[in-house]
Amino acid sequence: MESAKLNCDEIRKLISAYVDHELSPEKNRAVLLHLKECPVCHNLVLEEVRIKQAVQQFGQKMKAPEHLKRKLREELGGVKIM
Ligand SMILES: [Zn+2]
Repeated sequence: MESAKLNCDEIRKLISAYVDHELSPEKNRAVLLHLKECPVCHNLVLEEVRIKQAVQQFGQKMKAPEHLKRKLREELGGVKIM
């Protein structure tokens, strides 16, 4: 019996869950196997990771609005018009 190989379409549906480590061990292994053979999907995973990190960084900034406001005020206050 042939082991269940997933095609690119199926992998793409799993990438988000894969990056979040939400896949079952079997599915996770199927994705890993596919990524070894498929640079296109591999790039999509890298992209997904990058987006995730950007969102997390954005979330952290949003949690510190006071800090940002103060920084902005300091910068504006420090502007000298020559
Ligand atoms: Zn693929």
